[in-house]
Amino acid sequence: MLEVRGLVAGYGATEVLRGIDLDVAPGEIVAVLGANGVGKTTLNRALSGLIPSRAGSIRFLGEAIAGRKPAEIVSAGLIHVPEGRRIFPNMSVRDNLVLGSYRRGKADRETNLERIFALFPRLRERMAQSAGTLSGGEQQMLAIGRGLMGNPRLIILDEPSLGLSPLLVEEMFGLIARIAAEGLAVMLVEQNVVQSLELAGRAYVMENGRIVVAGSAAEIAANPALKHAYLGL
Ligand code: ATP
Repeated sequence: MLEVRGLVAGYGATEVLRGIDLDVAPGEIVAVLGANGVGKTTLNRALSGLIPSRAGSIRFLGEAIAGRKPAEIVSAGLIHVPEGRRIFPNMSVRDNLVLGSYRRGKADRETNLERIFALFPRLRERMAQSAGTLSGGEQQMLAIGRGLMGNPRLIILDEPSLGLSPLLVEEMFGLIARIAAEGLAVMLVEQNVVQSLELAGRAYVMENGRIVVAGSAAEIAANPALKHAYLGL
């Protein structure tokens, strides 16, 4: 469903992505791993149209999306939940969620809200509360819930476990598995290598703007030399 070939992108004179090849198939959880600064966030930005790609191609559901506006890419069904949550703290939890569906109008808003509240019961309990008063983990769930309100076919989650306690990480990854079980493809961009490899079917490891390892998550997890060389384990 997502097919990236030879993607090059960067900022000013700095080339960050130096030719990325990557695929995501429907219903798959794919992990993108790598140390700080290897270009994971830049890859997400390029896929969601927030920065232009300089070379290569991005195809999503059979259409070339490189060069499209971010809002068009969202409408096509590729939704990126950025790291750092970016919720609107002074708005209620419910209104934050509703914002995620603004491009879709009111049609399936209530059904979608119901679906999100079923996934995240804690958001239902706190529906009327201002989002800024949620705990870190709850804000992370809200950011993902808001992304889901746009009815994505592929959701890119940027560091969903960042800053969460081990127990909450466990819960978050369980939720991601449930989201994928609903038929969504998930691209999981993470520094939490061990748990990401348990959850994902396939994984890519980035280094210095390139994919240096691609394969089944189980195979990568079972390869100590590889984990040591690229993932600091
Ligand atoms: P992290 O896990 O720490 O978020 P990352 O893998 O997501 O790292 P990126 O944020 O994509 O890495 O950054 C890759 C490189 O691009 C870094 O060297 C960074 O300094 C550089 N970079 C990121 N944003 C900009 C920008 N707006 N202008 C110039 N350089 C940037």
